[in-house]
Parts: sequence; structure tokens; C-alpha cells
Amino acid sequence: SEGAGDRDCIFCRIAAGDVPADVVHSDDDVVAFRDTAPKADVHVLVVPRAHVRDVTDLVDDPALLAAVVRTAGEVAQDFADGDFRLVFNTGPGAGQTVFHAHAHVLAGGGAAATGL
Ligand code: 5GP
Ligand code: ZN
Repeated sequence: SEGAGDRDCIFCRIAAGDVPADVVHSDDDVVAFRDTAPKADVHVLVVPRAHVRDVTDLVDDPALLAAVVRTAGEVAQDFADGDFRLVFNTGPGAGQTVFHAHAHVLAGGGAAATGL
């Protein structure tokens, strides 16, 4: 639906419901689901439905970037005490392994001590 990235992109496939995930929030713009290798008690990935490579592309749609950040705050409220860290690994040299923009929401126990 979004073009070239879709078929081969794991986060596009999760957003489309073609690959299972523990989804904690879904709306027209973003999907949030638990990371399969959690680094904190709450470790959720928030992704735009649209396939963009990383946060440097996501800034081209400020409303969509805002939706990602807003959802991160809501997840932290819903599943922890509201405090959270937000991490966008950007580029392979910084540890990005999935090239569909995603915000790591780290909250609850262990959130302050991760290597992310
Ligand atoms: P990156 O290193 O690109 O910032 O983070 C990618 C994250 O996606 C990693 O924390 C990894 O555990 C998570 N991840 C990779 N594949 C899947 C998947 O298929 N499902 C879920 N829920 N998380 C994934
Ligand atoms: Zn994608």
C-alpha cells in the first residue's frame, strides 16, 4: 500500500496485521507494539503506518512525528508511571537494524539503565 518497502519490511507487515505482534495502540497514523527483546519492563516500539526509513525522514511530516511522540507518552501513562525515555536509533552506525522509523519507548523498571 505504501510502496517499495512494504513486502520486505517487518514493521510494515506488523502494521498491516500480516505478522503478529503484541499491539498496545493502533490508530490511522501509528501502531505501537511490544519489542520482542525488551530492555526494560515497558519496551514498546511506536511506528508510523507509512514506511519511512528513519526519524530524519519522519520530520518531513511534523504531524506524524507528533503522533509518534504523543503515542509514546500515552503508552508510558498506560503501562508505567508516565515517565519514559524515547530512543530513535538512526543509521547502522548507531545500531538501527530495522529501516522503518520507530521510537523505542522505555518505561518502568530498568528504563533508565538500558544500553539503547
Ligand atoms: P533498532 O535497533 O532498529 O533501533 O531496533 C529494532 C528493534 O526491533 C529491536 O529492539 C528488536 O528487538 C525489535 N524487533 C525486531 N524484529 C521484531 C519483530 O518482528 N517484532 C517485534 N515486536 N520487535 C522486533
Ligand atoms: Zn516499513
